[in-house]
Amino acid sequence: MAVLITGIGELTTNDDELGTLTGAAIVFDGPVIAWVGPAAAAPDADERIDVEGRAALPGWVDSHTHLVFAGDRTAEFEARMAGQPYSAGGIAVTVDATRAATDAELTANLRRHVSEAVRQGTTCLETKTGYGLTVADEVRAARIAAAAADEVTFLGAHLVPPGADAESYVDLVCGEMLDSVAGSVRWVDVFCETGAFDEAQSERVLRAAARHGLGLRVHGNQLGPGPGVRLAVRMGAASVDHCSHLSDSDVEALASSDTVATLLPACDLSTRQPLAPARRLLDAGVTVALATNANPGSSYTTSMGFCVATAVLQMGMSVAEAVRAATLGGAKALRRTDVGVLRPGARADLHVLDAPSRTHLAYRPGVPLTWRVWRQGTPAA
Ligand SMILES: [Zn+2]
Repeated sequence: MAVLITGIGELTTNDDELGTLTGAAIVFDGPVIAWVGPAAAAPDADERIDVEGRAALPGWVDSHTHLVFAGDRTAEFEARMAGQPYSAGGIAVTVDATRAATDAELTANLRRHVSEAVRQGTTCLETKTGYGLTVADEVRAARIAAAAADEVTFLGAHLVPPGADAESYVDLVCGEMLDSVAGSVRWVDVFCETGAFDEAQSERVLRAAARHGLGLRVHGNQLGPGPGVRLAVRMGAASVDHCSHLSDSDVEALASSDTVATLLPACDLSTRQPLAPARRLLDAGVTVALATNANPGSSYTTSMGFCVATAVLQMGMSVAEAVRAATLGGAKALRRTDVGVLRPGARADLHVLDAPSRTHLAYRPGVPLTWRVWRQGTPAA
């Protein structure tokens, strides 16, 4: 069935030829876009919806979340806001709670958070394992994630489980764990950071992933300078995420690569780390994505709108750059061409704002502006 959405005051397409349209319309044919153009030239459709001058854009592509978890870290957050430093070790608290939860509890928690994200305009969402850290618990997390998320990433190399030997644990991740989980995931990620995995260990994980034909992602340069960014570029990773502490050579390496720099401003704020140098990256020609890093420890938000507003108000990004990074940038970080863009053939994922322009996302920070969401042509919010 063809659905015509018309009366779009400002339509951000992210398509090089279509650009940003005023007085626009879009036609869905089932789950895909059939037509985009001026409202006056729109073809007939079975159903017609007039959005009365509101702005519309591609649904958010949240390319970095950790939503297969149980438990709560409010106390850790409160202590951090009272001056305690952040370290990677807090992950172990969530690991204990996640291992203790039933499949039904993990599924319900994941679905609740995905639904929360969709209601705020997210239509494509990646999520990761990484709170299991045993073969059985990681396989379980991947299976649960695959039932609710668009993209699933294996993050067995999130943290060395307390009491385990790092080298032996990396052997397990690269061997039995990866063998068992590979069929359920598209991506493998590694937390390359002091307190997590060093460069050599991270490279072993990425090489093992590549042997399985899986795509590569890296958590890098979050808590201080480090080898994560250059390792990601050297290994041809689709994305390196965090990028809060970058040297000039890190920026140069990214600029001459296909690796996306995914910035996670809600995490930087929630851990009181410096915000990532978005302006430096963009000026150097790096492809930038924005994502929530939704997780119970360091960034407990599913709001892409909050990330966009922060990027504009505090990271020197223009509204157009931030919106593009949170849609097309996320799609590039996931190496997808069917989302993050509105053009014939792309997925019918549309986010209509209760505002006349996308600028309101930063101009009216914190205000819930999502009016309607279509995901694969179906009303989702
Ligand atoms: Zn993360």
